[in-house]
Amino acid sequence: MAASARQLRKHWSEMRGRLSLEPPVTEVQLLSAVEKLRERPLIIAPVEMDSQGACGWWVPLPSFDLVLVDEQASGPRRLAIILHELGHMLLGHTPRAVGSLVSPQWVADFDLLPASLLQGATGLARSSYADGAEEEAERYGTMLFGQISEGERQVADQAADPMLALLRDSLGCG
Ligand SMILES: [Zn+2]
Repeated sequence: MAASARQLRKHWSEMRGRLSLEPPVTEVQLLSAVEKLRERPLIIAPVEMDSQGACGWWVPLPSFDLVLVDEQASGPRRLAIILHELGHMLLGHTPRAVGSLVSPQWVADFDLLPASLLQGATGLARSSYADGAEEEAERYGTMLFGQISEGERQVADQAADPMLALLRDSLGCG
């Protein structure tokens, strides 16, 4: 059974502490905090994917985490895909089929991988989590998306107009 929205919020507030993140949190801050927590690089790679199938895929490899993102995705959609995959990662989900799908050579060649093979692989990956995990990751990703969007907006505001941001902070709104 998938965790409730309340459980997921609680999970994130604890996780944010472990990640040493204070709002506003940006995408770059979150990704580098996750790398530190997991003590390994997190590599995000755009790849060609079947539009009918998955649009993201987390592949935990022996020495780094690989997150494959549909190369067609940009802006908010790309961020949403990445955050969904981070949801799987932070919630401790274990992809089932990946070990047999991915070899070190495959990883070395992943940017040269034929699209047809990748489509088959992502099709498998979609059904490779335990029941409820997809729903959890989607909710967690959506929750993170809200936080990151707000974080990016605040940082952009501050960059655009430091005086206005200072004023707004001192007024306690915005
Ligand atoms: Zn998923």
